[in-house]
Amino acid sequence: MPKVDCPVCGAAVDPETAIATAVHDAQTYHFSSTDCRDAFVADPGSYIGNTGS
Ligand SMILES: [Zn+2]
Repeated sequence: MPKVDCPVCGAAVDPETAIATAVHDAQTYHFSSTDCRDAFVADPGSYIGNTGS
């Protein structure tokens, strides 16, 4: 499975082994740490730019 970028710090995260995940707007995000997840959950809009394609 391809790695994804942690939306908070940009680190590569393996979705299968991600230490932290969160669901926002029906999409699952994977984080490099619980700190990153907490920051994201507190203010998702700051980390999600233009997600539409
Ligand atoms: Zn991170």
